[in-house]
Amino acid sequence: MEAGVTAKVRHSSETRNPESGTRVLRCEQLTLDYITPRSQTHAVRHVSLEIAPHSFAGIVGPSGSGKTSLLYLLSGLKTPSGGAVYVGDFRYSDAPANDKIDFRRRHFGFVFQQPFLVPYLTMLENVLVPAHDHHEPADMEYAQELLDELGIAALAAKFPNECSGGERVRASIARGLVTRPEFLFVDEPTANLDLATGKRVMEVLCLQRQHGTLVVVTHDLEMLSGADVGFRMRDGELIETFRP
Ligand code: ADP
Ligand code: MG
Repeated sequence: MEAGVTAKVRHSSETRNPESGTRVLRCEQLTLDYITPRSQTHAVRHVSLEIAPHSFAGIVGPSGSGKTSLLYLLSGLKTPSGGAVYVGDFRYSDAPANDKIDFRRRHFGFVFQQPFLVPYLTMLENVLVPAHDHHEPADMEYAQELLDELGIAALAAKFPNECSGGERVRASIARGLVTRPEFLFVDEPTANLDLATGKRVMEVLCLQRQHGTLVVVTHDLEMLSGADVGFRMRDGELIETFRP
């Protein structure tokens, strides 16, 4: 990681939850089947893995191997067909819907493959959408710092349709980081970026480890140079756990 990046962005040591940042993310025999009248896809098959607190885990594999499906299961955006996801001792995947929503809001952050920005909010306002209080000066300042680190500070007052696809992706990355979540789930952050911008984005994403765990899906191994652990998927199965 570039030393300057760490030094420039200030990070509050506040913890919104006493357990925050100390919990293992774990799944056991996780399975996801997509069943339609015409086909049946076993997108994730009996995957068991464990991700240590404050670590950076990468999920790699060819297109269609189940990376996004696994990320959505781990982050609770999809309900498994079988198996379970645990955050510490909490069996998150089977919790009642309201508990899940509340837990997700308090502890999880997401960066989807498509940036999904709100068209009538500025780039800065989009970053602040998940912040607990949009007018909190500390959040505002942090959002601006993140835009700066991502090289798009000058676009803060622009609307998404005035920005390029890669710039919108970077705004969505700042939006994922702004709440300092205990777990940040990121799907293919560098897919639409040039190599230099991709590396810069990964450096900024790595700052997440000061607050919690970072889980990144990518098909580009080079983006995992700072990762603690890699999980390789093929045909829905976890075929290898490796040290990137
Ligand atoms: P990856 O992210 O590695 O490209 P995905 O998790 O998106 O893989 O997909 C895994 C498999 O599940 C693929 O065969 C894909 O076609 C299938 N799949 C993904 N989403 C759906 C869906 N909503 N309905 C049916 N099949 C799906
Ligand atoms: Mg995918």
